[in-house]
Amino acid sequence: MAGIIPAAMKTEPIHVIGGGLAGSEAAWQIAEAGVPVVLHEMRPVRGTEAHKTDGLAELVCSNSFRSDDAETNAVGLLHAEMRLAGSLIMRSGDAHQVPAGSALAVDRDGFSAAVTERIEAHPLITIERGEVTGLPPADWDLAIIATGPLTAPSLAEAIREATGADALAFFDAIAPIVHFDTIDMDTCWFQSRYDKVGPGGTGKDYINCPMDKAQYEAFIQALLDGQKTEFKEWEGTPYFDGCLPIEVMAERGPETLRHGPMKPMGLTNAHNPTVKPYAVVQLRQDNALGTLYNMVGFQTKLRHGEQSRIFRMIPGLENAEFARLGGLHRNTYINSPTLLDCTLQLKLRPGLRFAGQITGCEGYVESAAIGLLAGRFAAAERLGRPLAPPPETTAFGALLNHITGGHIVSDDEPGKRSFQPMNVNFGLFPPVTMPKPEGKRLRGKEKTQAKKKAVTARALSDCRGWLGLDMTAEAAE
Ligand SMILES: Cc1cc2nc3c(=O)[nH]c(=O)nc-3n(C[C@H](O)[C@H](O)[C@H](O)COP(=O)(O)OP(=O)(O)OC[C@H]3O[C@@H](n4cnc5c(N)ncnc54)[C@H](O)[C@@H]3O)c2cc1C
Repeated sequence: MAGIIPAAMKTEPIHVIGGGLAGSEAAWQIAEAGVPVVLHEMRPVRGTEAHKTDGLAELVCSNSFRSDDAETNAVGLLHAEMRLAGSLIMRSGDAHQVPAGSALAVDRDGFSAAVTERIEAHPLITIERGEVTGLPPADWDLAIIATGPLTAPSLAEAIREATGADALAFFDAIAPIVHFDTIDMDTCWFQSRYDKVGPGGTGKDYINCPMDKAQYEAFIQALLDGQKTEFKEWEGTPYFDGCLPIEVMAERGPETLRHGPMKPMGLTNAHNPTVKPYAVVQLRQDNALGTLYNMVGFQTKLRHGEQSRIFRMIPGLENAEFARLGGLHRNTYINSPTLLDCTLQLKLRPGLRFAGQITGCEGYVESAAIGLLAGRFAAAERLGRPLAPPPETTAFGALLNHITGGHIVSDDEPGKRSFQPMNVNFGLFPPVTMPKPEGKRLRGKEKTQAKKKAVTARALSDCRGWLGLDMTAEAAE
């Protein structure tokens, strides 16, 4: 590195706003590429509602980076790719690991202190403590906004003004998302209400789960009895019609859901056409690959364990696996699929990138991963060596694709935001072709595990290729 510093010192710096998980990783990647960085962090000059320290990369809640299993877990795979890419967040997490079974949990203070020390000690990084109150000035030709779910209000307002009122959300109102291959299509059927084709549809765009009267009543009772999470005091209660949690709708009367998102009108059960369902739960395709479906109108504040239990009462979803569960909480994020190009650059203002949770990924690890990518794209641009996005077969690429391109825009609900934040999960990866097994055919859990292993092996190999790592050396290890 010493050899590149003198040349780099003459280069204009890249400005990174926000010293959280994403901003710290972005700054590190830029500096490691030999480009100077100014990292702007407003704490301790100004705090947020959740941060408690002035350390960089502070973990505001849990101390877990979730599963570290790179073979059969998508976030474990993302860890592995980040380690291959020299991630500061992963290096500091590994150095401050605490026992947590197959998960990677960290000592939060030791972790944040390690990130802060490494950033402070880097000769190409300058830290400026203070709030950035508007979009980067014109002379910051390359900049990254990584100010997270609690972006300070004046910057949030400036982003909203520049991108449009519909392009910035302040709350997640999330309905659960289900892996398509865990839905029982012997019970459910494809049909759009009244077989409407609509713009870009086929008349068979929704998956429908039928309920009889007894099933509906038991379901409503379960919603009423289920344990709910509370809003934090500073979050307020952001209910507005059109986005009420299903349990709140159920509280308004037993028939409310049957006249709302669970109405059976315009639908005929393909497996049992003579019997009219009493209520219907609809799922709509959520990603371009068709591997994920969201439960329409099912935003909820039920606790996660309760959601899995109660939603598996729905006929056809008895064995559903959830790519994400529902929620409603404070979160600032932009409508990335519309606003950003495939290198996280604001189409309206080339040179300005976004990273971290504000782009619509979710979680510490995903935010840091998107910071890593934004940092690499920005550094490559500064060095005049444009960098292609990672292949979508990698965890990096699958997550980036969800944010910038892979999401379906809802034509039938104009005005509704359809892009929702999401953790990395196997539903975001293109399907893998499995080699035909010799001897016994794999079934059930064994088959699922084998598929996951095939996806992760492909991902790590493609990630090494993208990073330009020596594949022959790796194979010889
Ligand atoms: C209450 C709460 C609980 C959460 N719990 C979890 C959890 O348990 N597990 C999990 O994986 N994720 C959790 N998250 C999400 C988690 O916070 C994010 O995934 C992650 O921190 C996002 O990283 P980031 O770098 O995008 O944002 P952050 O880590 O929040 O970093 C953003 C940084 O930008 C700074 N900043 C903001 N505005 C400005 C400005 N105008 N100028 C300069 N600096 C600015 C902030 O001070 C902050 O340091 C939680 C979020 C919240 C709000």
